[in-house]
Amino acid sequence: MLLINNRAYRDMIDYCMKQRPHEACGFLSGYRGDCSGPNRIGRFIPVANRSPRPELHFDMEPHEVVRALYEMEADDLVLLGIVHSHPQAPPVPSAEDMLTPWRQAISHWIVSLHGDVASTKAYAYSKLDDGTLTWSELPIVITP
Ligand SMILES: [Zn+2]
Repeated sequence: MLLINNRAYRDMIDYCMKQRPHEACGFLSGYRGDCSGPNRIGRFIPVANRSPRPELHFDMEPHEVVRALYEMEADDLVLLGIVHSHPQAPPVPSAEDMLTPWRQAISHWIVSLHGDVASTKAYAYSKLDDGTLTWSELPIVITP
C-alpha cells in the first residue's frame, strides 16, 4: 500500500493536466515505511519530457532527473514513485512503459486524462524468471 498526501496528489494531477496534450512525467518522494508501515509520499517533483514526440512518449530530461534526486537527498526524502501521464489512454502500462530503466522503482504511477477526467493508478513492475515483464496494481490511499 502507498500513502500519498493530498497536496502531492493534487500537484501531480494539476501538472499532468497542464502539460496536455503532451505526456507529463516526474517523481514522487517521501518517507520509506519501516518493516510494518507503508511508504508515505509527500511531494511531487515535475521533470520535463524531452521526447521528440511528447504527445506519444515520455523521456525524462536527464539534468532535471539529477536535480530532483539531489533535492530529495538534501531534504532526506527517498524516491518512491515514477509518474507519467496518458493524455489519451487509460491508466494501464503500455509495452513501452514496461521497458523503463526505472523498473526497480517502488511504484510507477499513470495519470490518465482520457475523457478529461483524471484517473490514476500505481503499479509495481517486475521481471519473471522466464524474462517476461509484468505488473501488479498497488493500492493507493490519499491522506490529508
Ligand atoms: Zn505509459
